[in-house]
Amino acid sequence: MTYKDPDCIFCKIAAGEIPCAKVYESESCLAFLDIAPVHAGHALVLPKAHHPTLLDLPAELGSDLMQTLAKVGRAVMEATGADGLNLMQNNFEAAGQLVHHAHFHLVPRFEDDGLRLWPQTAYDDPEEMNGLAKKIADLVK
Ligand code: 5GP
Ligand code: ZN
Repeated sequence: MTYKDPDCIFCKIAAGEIPCAKVYESESCLAFLDIAPVHAGHALVLPKAHHPTLLDLPAELGSDLMQTLAKVGRAVMEATGADGLNLMQNNFEAAGQLVHHAHFHLVPRFEDDGLRLWPQTAYDDPEEMNGLAKKIADLVK
């Protein structure tokens, strides 16, 4: 039984209660076009069941989800004539998540389309980087 949140717009789309421009459906995942695309063909892939963020996704989804991302990604690139493809995924409001039903953005990209995703910085020294790597590694469960 797929868990549905009554206040969630993506649950309503997955249940067919709100229309979408659907491009693919697997046993556990759905893909449709984002209503406000970065470029035309920008697609969203999501588990049909309600899970708020990436951190809540059950491992059993993995194979179906990865296959769906690859299948839809290939089709988006072919349909739009894209030169590249970004997979983007936002978790929690601080990271730009607007819809709290975990989902993945497949964004077709074009040579010289001018999009710059994020600026990068540097660590002060290797010890800072290695110390943080150890802290994270110790917390991986
Ligand atoms: P987020 O910022 O949560 O990662 O992305 C949510 C995305 O869902 C946004 O890019 C937004 O344009 C898209 N979106 C929000 N509501 C709807 C809707 O009702 N239909 C469709 N197709 N996309 C939606
Ligand atoms: Zn939902």
